[in-house]
Amino acid sequence: MSNNIIALLPDHVANQIAAGEVVQRPSSVVKELLENAIDAKATQIKLIVKDAGKSLIQVIDNGNGMSPFDSRMCFERHATSKITKADDLWALTTKGFRGEALASIAAVAQVELKSKQENDIVGQHIVIEGSKFISQSECQAATGTTFIIKNLFFNITARRNFLKNDQIEQKHIIDEFERVALPHCDIHFILISNGNEILNLPAGNLMQRIKQLYGNYMLKDLVPVAEDTSFLKIGGYVSLPGAAVKTRKEQFIFINNRFIKNPFLNHAVYEAYKELISYQSHPKFFLFLELDPKHLDINIHPTKTEIKFTDERSVYMLLLSVIKRALGKANVAPSLDFETSITSSLVTTDRVYAQPKVSYNPDYNPFKNSGSSFAGMDSELQKVNKQNWETLFTGFKQTFERENTTSDNAQHAIEVLKKEAVNHSVFQLNYKYIITSFDKNVVIIDQQRAHERAIYELYLRTIPENKISSQQLLFPEQIELSANDFNLIKELKSEFNLLGFDIEEFGKNSIVINGAPADMQDMNVVETLEGILETFKLNTIDAKIEKHDNLCRAIAKNTCIKYGKILDEKEMRLIVSQILYCQNPLYTPGGKPVMMEVELNEIEKFFKR
Ligand code: ADP
Ligand code: MG
Repeated sequence: MSNNIIALLPDHVANQIAAGEVVQRPSSVVKELLENAIDAKATQIKLIVKDAGKSLIQVIDNGNGMSPFDSRMCFERHATSKITKADDLWALTTKGFRGEALASIAAVAQVELKSKQENDIVGQHIVIEGSKFISQSECQAATGTTFIIKNLFFNITARRNFLKNDQIEQKHIIDEFERVALPHCDIHFILISNGNEILNLPAGNLMQRIKQLYGNYMLKDLVPVAEDTSFLKIGGYVSLPGAAVKTRKEQFIFINNRFIKNPFLNHAVYEAYKELISYQSHPKFFLFLELDPKHLDINIHPTKTEIKFTDERSVYMLLLSVIKRALGKANVAPSLDFETSITSSLVTTDRVYAQPKVSYNPDYNPFKNSGSSFAGMDSELQKVNKQNWETLFTGFKQTFERENTTSDNAQHAIEVLKKEAVNHSVFQLNYKYIITSFDKNVVIIDQQRAHERAIYELYLRTIPENKISSQQLLFPEQIELSANDFNLIKELKSEFNLLGFDIEEFGKNSIVINGAPADMQDMNVVETLEGILETFKLNTIDAKIEKHDNLCRAIAKNTCIKYGKILDEKEMRLIVSQILYCQNPLYTPGGKPVMMEVELNEIEKFFKR
């Protein structure tokens, strides 16, 4: 007699296996539930988590709700209202379609659902634990749906043990939350964690959503991108080259409002920044691509973050050129005021101050090698200009130095500037220099260097009795460090503390940053700290610099505003007055010049000819 050994897996086992794909950690549940709420046309979605989602994940929406039958059905595998035939896959506009998420979640957690449709008087209350149906009853409920997911992986100890600490799981949740909240800025999102409201994002436009999530600070670094072809629409924002950072953060590409990861498109973005930023730094981008779903290969990958295009090449080229154009507009346009013809005629003179082209920073020209019309600024010309500019600067430097050491004149000049700068006009040149005037002379201040000097002196003057105040972080950041860096931080702990950092050791080679100087709140604290350590280590090569001084230099270098940052008038005035109140306003801590001056009589001499 033959011996049959094949049997179908029981449903709850199949669901658990499927759950392994869909539900990797609390944040995967968050993603699925938020997406379902969006598909149900909710206008307000509230996410409540406890213990980074390990003990509770609750999503409350005011969407369409479900009928009594659907409330029960939705937990069945392949139960979906979003497709009915394979062809529908090619015209998907919803986030879900596999009908697998709820079945998977219910297989590995204790789940409750309350849902009511608008025309129903009572709602449905369903309880399911580990795929086991417990109860269905009527209940009071507002129109919409609430999912309550308790004790994720309660029945799979191995998976539960595999979860990371709360900080890391919480970070994953916030990442997913952002990925959903960004493209749906017309929906009001709320996030509550352990009883505290962490984010409350009223409906608005994309700009407002970015501001709600990343602060005002971020907006100044961004330029819009826009392109609309019959095949592909591109919108969103990319960061100015000067705002590039050392780690990949705030990099988002959405296709039809779905967050995706696609190395090919990422490459297109980086290509647009080529020669504008160093290869270790990373731009920020919020890019929204829209195209007919028929041009997409819907990948049935469970987490749905991978997508393929039928015509990847065109998407690549279009994206690349759109970003290049946006950056070009932002960075090259200001220097177009100085027409090439004028500039070249000035170069033939032997006078050195007649160099408006000094302001032209070739590094910022994204068209540099592309044969475009402003690519022609020939390099010889630039070299001459640079030399001239340096000669001019030497003169200025000498004057200033002489005055600085020999008389009260320099002091006087600074005093005049202190008084006058507040009233004089300021403007920004090429997102790099602040131009103002004093005593009829023109003063050109390097924004980054000036700010670096000002911060350095501020920190340098800090004494234990009057330490820099620290502000607690909303989300303490945990960082794993190399053994060396960890020791360095330990050694510098009291210095860091004095300067407003609240850092705690956290097991082997890892630390938690609980607080940072109040001024640094808008920055990425982890990146900034990593940068500070790098600079500190570089500076230790010069043994003459003592520890406190070195740390102040490192902080100044890593937290000062950068080239490429658009400054408004108030900010420019602030920098001007900060630099003027420095003890040594003329040089950065590393000895580089901070400002130059063109005297009125030099200007007049030039125009006499
Ligand atoms: P999918 O989203 O792939 O269809 P899910 O398992 O996530 O599969 O959900 C199954 C079905 O349950 C959905 O197709 C939808 O009809 C219904 N559903 C899930 N969440 C909600 C919600 N918040 N509001 C209304 N209906 C929902
Ligand atoms: Mg779904």
